[in-house]
Amino acid sequence: MQEERYLEYDRSFIWHPYASLKSPPRVRLARSASGVEIELADGRRLVDAVSSWWCVAHGHNHPAIVEAIRRQSERMCHLMFGGFTHEPAVELAQRLAAFAPGGLDRVFFADSGSISVEVAAKMAIQYHAALGHPERRRILALKGGYHGDTSLCMALSDPDGMHTLFKGLMTSHLFADKPTCPFGDEWDPGCARSLENLIDEHGREIAAVICEPVLQAANAMNFYHPRYLREMRRLCDESGALLVFDEIAAGLHRTGPRWAQDHASTTPDIMTVGKALTGGHMTLAATLASARVADTISNGRPSAFMHGPTFMANPLACAAASASLDLFAASDYAANARRIEGWFASRLMQLKDLPNVVDVRTLGAVAVVEVRRMPSQSDISDVIDAHGVWLRPFCNFIYSMPPLVSDERTIDRIACAIGDLASRPPDVAPMDSDFHE
Ligand SMILES: *Cc1c(COP(=O)(O)O)cnc(C)c1O
Repeated sequence: MQEERYLEYDRSFIWHPYASLKSPPRVRLARSASGVEIELADGRRLVDAVSSWWCVAHGHNHPAIVEAIRRQSERMCHLMFGGFTHEPAVELAQRLAAFAPGGLDRVFFADSGSISVEVAAKMAIQYHAALGHPERRRILALKGGYHGDTSLCMALSDPDGMHTLFKGLMTSHLFADKPTCPFGDEWDPGCARSLENLIDEHGREIAAVICEPVLQAANAMNFYHPRYLREMRRLCDESGALLVFDEIAAGLHRTGPRWAQDHASTTPDIMTVGKALTGGHMTLAATLASARVADTISNGRPSAFMHGPTFMANPLACAAASASLDLFAASDYAANARRIEGWFASRLMQLKDLPNVVDVRTLGAVAVVEVRRMPSQSDISDVIDAHGVWLRPFCNFIYSMPPLVSDERTIDRIACAIGDLASRPPDVAPMDSDFHE
């Protein structure tokens, strides 16, 4: 059977994310996807409870986005951005400027989230070089953070996390303690002490401070106090470091408001957007900067900003992103996220009493059940098949980030599957390398 042959070939020759080719984890052959569901080659359907790694905000194959890609494909699928511009890029830049917090209207289009973070870091370093401070080239990041898989992004993600193997290869940046004051609790000033101490000590070497605002996703599933971001803003202003918010996971209503930073009414100097930008239909990310950052770089030597990927501002991806932002603008996604939070909270909080459960938390359209130990891979597979719900737990986190258009029945099915999984016995075998989402 053709399907069996595809799976067979895949097992032997194709790497999957964070997976071994020697003992490949089970993969399922998918045929199509629409709305909140993925259709498998055998005709079964799974609810995509993780929005295909948090990007399919409006559901799979949204007609408006598919139509925008189709229309653009008839005119021009790709064109180098060196020496040209085009309607999809300008339309998207204008929409992004209107969506972004005040003043962040200078845009660099990147081809993935990781690249947009690299670009943000390079902007910060080039900004200080232009001001006559080439010694400011370290970045301060947070433990428990994740910013992507390329070298510089690895160097900014938690050094004790998934990239330890490459530690020696990476320049050492600075890491403040993971923010522990939870979202929704009373603010504990001790929470930002480590950040404050590092900036006190190394302020003159620091080009920028970077964090995932409010939601540390891929590494820690940590929801922390928004006040932390205000402290960060103050410390950056005092020390002259730029502030970078990586909104790739948390932005575009995942935590409720349009940007996670809106919880704190604080804005950065540079911001990255990705994942849900195209509604998860094409790969695209953007780095947005303030006029001050852009002008300073432009007045330096070189005046050019030194980055330019082959597929920069790909017209198909830009068209998809404009259609996605139009969908975000057309209805109340903050309300969607709040409703999803309520549905999850009412169904999942009771899991706190299970012996293997450490904590249950929800914020916007994110629900996390933290367990002492993950159930076995075969139990996870079994729950996915039995409930028809696609879950992708990692580390000690059973979680869902469903499409923001999910209805109550969908959330109910996801919550049932999560409840079933959290009730299964913890695995006794040693944990393998399945560290990442
Ligand atoms: C996923 C993610 C990235 C990396 O994006 P890619 O498109 O996978 O390169 C960077 N930062 C955060 C916060 C992310 O969640």
